[in-house]
Amino acid sequence: MKPAAFDYHRPETLAAALECLAALTNARPLAGGQSLMPMMNFRFVTPEHVVDLNRIGELAAIEETEDGLRIGAMVRQRALERAPRVAARYPLMREALGHVGHVQTRNRGTLGGSLSHLDPAAELPAVLAAQDAVLEVRSTRGARRVPMSEWCLGYMTPNLGDGELLCAVQMPAWSVGHGYAFEEVARRHGDIALAGAAVLVSLDAGGVVERVAIALAGVGEAVLRLHEAEQMLIGQAAAAAQVERAAKLAGNVPGFADAHASEAYRQKLAVVVTRRALFKAIERARAA
Ligand code: FAD
Repeated sequence: MKPAAFDYHRPETLAAALECLAALTNARPLAGGQSLMPMMNFRFVTPEHVVDLNRIGELAAIEETEDGLRIGAMVRQRALERAPRVAARYPLMREALGHVGHVQTRNRGTLGGSLSHLDPAAELPAVLAAQDAVLEVRSTRGARRVPMSEWCLGYMTPNLGDGELLCAVQMPAWSVGHGYAFEEVARRHGDIALAGAAVLVSLDAGGVVERVAIALAGVGEAVLRLHEAEQMLIGQAAAAAQVERAAKLAGNVPGFADAHASEAYRQKLAVVVTRRALFKAIERARAA
């Protein structure tokens, strides 16, 4: 299949891209093209205009901020995977990136594209949900900061208005020595996840859980944070019995059924990946 006819625009600055998007109707930004092009080729989407973001350098920077990193929307997934600053401060993101498609797709795919395409099984939205990231959105009407908890408005529906672009992600870093783990079940490596869990945990000197974040990918129609399980663990010793009880709660989340798995199977997998990720993250926190 080939895409329906469209006009191609290639702005060199963010301001020009925003002007373009404000002036055009039925326009789509193009980032790495790893999802948009297949969607266009299958005619799932038929934009009349494609606004190519690949020449806009200001969208592709990684900057230190006082509480973490600011990552531009056009930063390639592969660049994030290989960035020493990401490995040092966001080991969860680095581990999850190894599950995102293949090296070839990560060479082109971007952070902003993954968050805007918002496949329910995508790994990066789950990582950002666990990290409590804040997303910077711009249009010719101004700028907004959207907490990741308000980003998913429904199935593949990001919190983006007409003419808006996701420009950057602000990622607050957890304390040094926190535990982390990304676990998923997919038919084959590189396939979209049937269920994935992104976990961060920090323990106090006595091994009690001080802080924990658990986010699920691929189970619900959008990324899910397991707040009830988190509350159950905080203030408790990170013992196996506690982990089992918390992981069991992952089986209660509203799952979705498709050609790949039933809701019940996804809920079972949610318990498995949550348990594995919690045990691994606690072990890493203890080792740190
Ligand atoms: P594009 O495809 O260019 O755009 C995606 C959508 O987001 C489009 O609607 C576009 O208009 C919009 N968009 C892009 N950038 C912005 C922006 N800055 N602001 C507003 N809207 C924007 N992904 C996974 O998470 N896990 C996987 O296991 C996985 N496996 C894959 C396997 C294959 C073979 C392929 C081809 C892809 C796979 N993907 C997977 C998808 C891949 O990670 C894509 O990179 C990602 O989904 C989209 O990123 P992109 O930069 O290519 O965006």
